[in-house]
Amino acid sequence: MRINCLACGHKVTLDDAYDNFEGPVKCLCGAMLEIRTEDAMLKGIMLVEPRPRPAPESKRMEGAAAT
Ligand SMILES: [Zn+2]
Repeated sequence: MRINCLACGHKVTLDDAYDNFEGPVKCLCGAMLEIRTEDAMLKGIMLVEPRPRPAPESKRMEGAAAT
């Protein structure tokens, strides 16, 4: 699966591990993209402002997108 970086337009290639994924992905240009995928389909993508500290394994469920 590929996603387009919102900052530079680069096509970021993601492997199967990202078929069902929600979280940040880093582009070559250094931009952080917050993506959400489901069954290898891109459900959402947004550009994340760079943060001073790296985010470790913080898994949050903030998916109140029901109904
Ligand atoms: Zn980029």
